[in-house]
Amino acid sequence: MAKVIIIGAGPAGMMAALSATECGDTVTVIEKNEKAGKKLFITGKGRCNITNACDVSDLFPNILSNRKFMYSAIYSYDNSFVMDFFNNNGCLVKVERGDRVFPVSDKSSDVIRALTKAMADAGVTLLTSCRVIKVDKKDHFYVQYVDGKNKKHVMEGDKVIIATGGKSYPQTGSTGDGYQFAKAFGHNITKLSPALVPFELKGNDFSEIMGLSLKNVSLKVKTGGKIIFDEFGEMLFTHFGISGPLVLSAANVTAAAVEKKSGDIKVVIDLKPALSEEVLDARILKDFQMNINKQFKNSLDRLLPKSIIPLIVRRSGIDGDKEVNSVTKEERAALVKAIKELDFEFKGFRGFEEAIITKGGVDVKQINPSTMESKLVEGLYFAGEIIDVDGKTGGFNLQIAWSTGHLAGSNYGG
Ligand SMILES: Cc1cc2nc3c(=O)[nH]c(=O)nc-3n(C[C@H](O)[C@H](O)[C@H](O)COP(=O)(O)OP(=O)(O)OC[C@H]3O[C@@H](n4cnc5c(N)ncnc54)[C@H](O)[C@@H]3O)c2cc1C
Repeated sequence: MAKVIIIGAGPAGMMAALSATECGDTVTVIEKNEKAGKKLFITGKGRCNITNACDVSDLFPNILSNRKFMYSAIYSYDNSFVMDFFNNNGCLVKVERGDRVFPVSDKSSDVIRALTKAMADAGVTLLTSCRVIKVDKKDHFYVQYVDGKNKKHVMEGDKVIIATGGKSYPQTGSTGDGYQFAKAFGHNITKLSPALVPFELKGNDFSEIMGLSLKNVSLKVKTGGKIIFDEFGEMLFTHFGISGPLVLSAANVTAAAVEKKSGDIKVVIDLKPALSEEVLDARILKDFQMNINKQFKNSLDRLLPKSIIPLIVRRSGIDGDKEVNSVTKEERAALVKAIKELDFEFKGFRGFEEAIITKGGVDVKQINPSTMESKLVEGLYFAGEIIDVDGKTGGFNLQIAWSTGHLAGSNYGG
């Protein structure tokens, strides 16, 4: 029976703990927060998109960096295992649009409860408010940590799993400590950058619409006139630019375009994607007829959210005080364009504080993909976001955490 020490009680660490106990190991999880799963709690806007119910083979195209490295991990613990685990541990799951899997209760706290209860039932020791500061290896591993009273402790173990996450949303505990532990053992850390992250836009045209959330709009990202992203969904205007599911989905391809220096990047929002230009024009005409003596600026209430109207009026180039009965056909065409092609210049990405995940991490060349064990240090394992693997939105990043966690926990050779 081996003594396993897991650093970090995020999804990867907790799953690793459960699979290690299945192998008969004695397991301690050390977590610096006062409770387990602080980041998990805020996932999926508090609903936790646990995984994606797509065909197993379709998980791979949704893994963006080092997908081949993930083959063994995914095939040894795929999305159906994840769904079974939660269904069998008091957290029933449901499948929504895009095969996204959520708890039936829509509460991420139920996901955390299922994991912490299963750990307690399996005899895992969970030390919270304990921050690991150093990991050494001599004959055994020696993990140094400080407790909530700032008292230093050293724990001895046969196997250590580093599951400290990345460095995004650092207030959740993921401050990148694990990269230092890995480096101290000679591991290479590939370039770290914030990923699945909101966009900053140039100008301040959008600042008056901050807080406006839009459903059923389409977002295009263009570079050099070429469309590199075109999807339909939800987004949000913020004080710096845009955020929300559509924007996060667009972040990967946009980051690739930035990296390639493919030229100026534009985002184009279609506020009425379900209406063709002709149908929209007819709709506008109808609204004008109902508001025949009103000023143009007061005639769009039925068509658009109130806060965006001044911006659309400005972009249309039509004098807002003009009576609608004198708006010309050409002016209406300009209005249609302003609504269907509301464009902004891309300025850059937000930082790690607002990134859903960290791109980059422990170099996969130095990790055995069949076990998650370090190729440099026997008995040292990695799991979750600390590894240089990342996925798209839709439950794929948590699937990476579950699969790598499960494999890291289950593979003790001794
Ligand atoms: C706002 C937001 C929403 C998201 N929504 C989704 C979603 O719906 N679906 C999805 O698939 N993915 C989602 N993600 C991504 C997903 O949360 C992460 O990929 C996942 O949590 C990574 O799991 P992990 O266990 O590797 O790391 P983490 O969840 O980051 O856990 C690491 C743990 O290690 C602890 N730790 C760190 N350093 C130390 C130390 N020195 N000593 C002790 N403990 C330490 C941390 O406190 C933390 O609890 C979201 C992320 C964010 C920020």
